[in-house]
Amino acid sequence: MSDEGDPIHSLVRLLTRLPGVGEKSARRIAYHVLGADPDYARALGETIATLSERVRRCASCGAYTSRVRCAICDDPRRTSELLCVVARPMDADAVERARVFQGRYHILHALLDPLGGVGPGEFPLQPLLDRVAREGVREVILATPPTVEGEATALYLAECFHAEGVAVTRIASGVPHGGELEFTDPITLGRAMEGRRTV
Ligand SMILES: [Zn+2]
Repeated sequence: MSDEGDPIHSLVRLLTRLPGVGEKSARRIAYHVLGADPDYARALGETIATLSERVRRCASCGAYTSRVRCAICDDPRRTSELLCVVARPMDADAVERARVFQGRYHILHALLDPLGGVGPGEFPLQPLLDRVAREGVREVILATPPTVEGEATALYLAECFHAEGVAVTRIASGVPHGGELEFTDPITLGRAMEGRRTV
């Protein structure tokens, strides 16, 4: 008997599209939701369904926030002289967890990847250049991941900022090659940040 159209099967199929969720975990989550308080299931569904309407990108840095500007951009205790450039929101979260950085972030939501269709023409460079000029940034810290695309992006940005006369540093190695920042432990990432070098 086919279970096409079966609500549990539909939920399992949707859940397995989430990162890190296999068929077994998806079934466990589905049964858990079924056995839980119906109010919880409703709140979970509604929260997911309305997420993209309630969350936007920070007008300054691109982080996800429910306000026009995120809490970090609005925090007067953070210096605008240091700007840490990352590929994704979770990379900024990872640097935050290391607790060694008091500047602000810029989230690219992209990496240079000419073979994947993101060449210099598609890369969101201008908002970053504008921001650096507008906010008086003294040092741009490149914290793109140590992957082929992450290194190509860092090299490209370093050249752009050299032309603009802005100091550029790259976080030190220690972040495993090809690894993601979000899976790097805070101590290693903290050291990588403190040991950054001029590029
Ligand atoms: Zn922000």
